[in-house]
Amino acid sequence: MIGKRIYLVILLFGLSLFAGDPHCEVLTLDQVGGSLSEAVHRKMDPGSFTVSAVHGNVVVMRYAGAVDDFEVSPEHPIDFLPRQEMMRAFYAQIGDVYDLVAFTTDFTYVRNGTLGFHVQLKNDIQGIGLPLVDYSATFHSSGKLQGMIELGAATKYLREGALTLDVFQNLMLHEIGHRWLAHVSYLVDGQISGNLRMESGGHWSFLLDSDASYMYGHHWQEAGDGTWTVTDARSRYSDLDLYLMGFLPAEEVAPITLLHSSEIPDRSNRFPTPAATIRATAETIDISQIIAAEGPRDPGYANRARSLRVAFVFLHSGPAPEETILAQFNGGLAGLDSRFQRQTKGLGHLDFRPSPYAASASAADFANGWNYLEAQRQGDAWADTDATLVRDTVEVIRAQVLHGHPFETTLTALKAHQDRNLDDVARIAALLGELNRGDEARIAVLRTARRGDGAMLCALAVNPVRLIRPWH
Ligand SMILES: [Zn+2]
Repeated sequence: MIGKRIYLVILLFGLSLFAGDPHCEVLTLDQVGGSLSEAVHRKMDPGSFTVSAVHGNVVVMRYAGAVDDFEVSPEHPIDFLPRQEMMRAFYAQIGDVYDLVAFTTDFTYVRNGTLGFHVQLKNDIQGIGLPLVDYSATFHSSGKLQGMIELGAATKYLREGALTLDVFQNLMLHEIGHRWLAHVSYLVDGQISGNLRMESGGHWSFLLDSDASYMYGHHWQEAGDGTWTVTDARSRYSDLDLYLMGFLPAEEVAPITLLHSSEIPDRSNRFPTPAATIRATAETIDISQIIAAEGPRDPGYANRARSLRVAFVFLHSGPAPEETILAQFNGGLAGLDSRFQRQTKGLGHLDFRPSPYAASASAADFANGWNYLEAQRQGDAWADTDATLVRDTVEVIRAQVLHGHPFETTLTALKAHQDRNLDDVARIAALLGELNRGDEARIAVLRTARRGDGAMLCALAVNPVRLIRPWH
């Protein structure tokens, strides 16, 4: 892995985010990679991390080691070993099913004036300006984990015991955005230009009209006399963001405005500034220029990931956090998912659920479980009773998907199932939707079956969100 241009991106926020003036840094793996290879040869006490509780969507982990091991400061660059060991314990007790893991702590360890950061571990998406690399194994994931979000001490997000939702959620939306953003270049006059981005990378340029993206840049408005004014910042995912995230087809991304100014250099690392006014000229960039530089996004819109599984960990060195605090974070996560769904036009979903498997489950337990399921197989279906064939088969396929077992044969058979009622139709359509396999015929059946009052003539135990989402 050495010698490759790997980005282990550390994106850091200033504590001053509270004042609307964050600062960020980006370090490449070359700058911090020493600790990654070094960690292979070092050891930590295997009992240093334990899952002590699961409270709603928050996994509570106890850390028995020295909190200074986590320190990030000018004198103490990030050490991956304790983070890797935390994930080893997490996977042993919870499960390796998460795209991202975010954690907060009951101790202060970030001492370089920053708020939170994102450690990028894997990218398997082409056309978004990131190399195709996979460092998940160094964090003990079998290829699933794409990144780690560090929020630092939980006290930073609490005011008199109440979670400051805007600070917490805006930071999370930004850090989650780093999974895909902001790394692309564009082609202009036969040259590749990086002017969309800050020089330091990972954020949109001060001069980009990013439609007030969470990933910086601004919403710039022309004042008519050669000056441009900031009217909004850090409020949403832009169309460009959504394209790169997979939630918008390229043809729906409107032309993008990039300013050039004698007052601010291209690729300026300045952070968003409310109400800033500068003299500037505008360059219009079409999404096709980005695609010309980066290639098309692959997977594209049609095959985009639908939901992102995010683990949320509260790591404590002192006494276990109070339930009221954990309840605050659970509420913050629920609201965060709602915001993410709205921001992605109903197409994206943050799934914070801890793995449904018990913390004590061992590899042998899983093997027994699969053996049991295989023993119950009836051809390509599972059925406790004839009436529950579709329900049972759908749930088995979900389990197969979750654990990476082959499922295509049973899915094909299920798709060809002769539906007996709307319950069958809805369950199969929901599953196919989750797997990004369209099923227009069944969706059409459901639309037709809708009564005048909007209700359906079926008693569904299916999560309605799963049904609604494919209708967009
Ligand atoms: Zn950032």
